[in-house]
Amino acid sequence: MLQMLLVGTLAMSGAQSAPHGALRAGWEAIQRGEADEAAAAFRRALAADGRDPSALAGAGAAAHLLGRDDEAIRFLKRALDVEPEFAYAAHLLGQLAYAQGDLDLAIKSYERVIKVSPGSPRVYQQLQAWKQEAALHDGFVSRPGVRFSVLFEGPAQEAIAARVSRVLEASYLRVGRALNAYPPQTITAILYTKQQFRDITKAPDWAAGAYDGRIRIPVLGALRAPGELDRVVTHEFVHALIASIAPRGVPAWLNEGLATYFEPAGHGWVQERLRAAPALIPLAALEESFTGLSGVDPTLAYAESLVAAQLLVERLGPNFPVFLQYVGNGTSLEQALLLFNITPADIEREWTRRTRAR
Ligand SMILES: [Zn+2]
Repeated sequence: MLQMLLVGTLAMSGAQSAPHGALRAGWEAIQRGEADEAAAAFRRALAADGRDPSALAGAGAAAHLLGRDDEAIRFLKRALDVEPEFAYAAHLLGQLAYAQGDLDLAIKSYERVIKVSPGSPRVYQQLQAWKQEAALHDGFVSRPGVRFSVLFEGPAQEAIAARVSRVLEASYLRVGRALNAYPPQTITAILYTKQQFRDITKAPDWAAGAYDGRIRIPVLGALRAPGELDRVVTHEFVHALIASIAPRGVPAWLNEGLATYFEPAGHGWVQERLRAAPALIPLAALEESFTGLSGVDPTLAYAESLVAAQLLVERLGPNFPVFLQYVGNGTSLEQALLLFNITPADIEREWTRRTRAR
């Protein structure tokens, strides 16, 4: 979940014309993380006054918690149309815009936050980082397409960009068919030097790519190892696809496991890695992004995740895409499995058997 500035919101709601009770109930539900309840309360407030900025922003925050960021962005823009100096709405809009790959809107929104509510070093630093990113991309060449738009630095990367486009198109069809899902929006892939990639993503040294609303890949010398480039591009595309099916609720082990599962390269290394490990990392410790892992070998985390994801793909069969949608809509992973008559205990047992049979 993204961080939210709640300061001032409750106070502000008192000044509005929508029913105070509904607004208060909505913001309190947001604080508790109860998105459905919050959405219902803000709907009541908007029924009374469809232009109440606090109700509009609240409806945006609730939609975000429900994983509906397109809808959230629409509500937040409306809140800012009515009340241009609404720092909370501008702050949340900036974060959601960035997560969706709209760097311009992200920058404009944070500029607005700083104008009406200066003083946060975090907001200021984030804005500077986004501006640097925009300046870097300004010098890039774009290879536009309907499904994918590839940005790269210049003629030296032309051949790599062409290969990345081809791999993305092929992954779109192959992985799309397997998961019965195709991202509706154009996906941007940006090719960097190693240094640019580290500067922008702050990713750990072992990361070969990243997805954060855009696919980002360090590609210097990539054509010397085209198989590795294809692997990384496919892997990051799968993250983009999963984000479009289930923008939230997917644990990192499932996300990374699926991305690894669909890589075109063989998975011979997985059994080897599992065999060499003195001890396994519990899956429960692999719920959050692997970039934050410390003290564990990321390859082991990927190997274990692949086994788990493959197991779920096998067990769920053609129901797998529907299962992912349930998870994305807020159903817990355990509940979603039970809907298909699969017990989490069975998955756990089988995962343990497969990872220990090393
Ligand atoms: Zn990944």
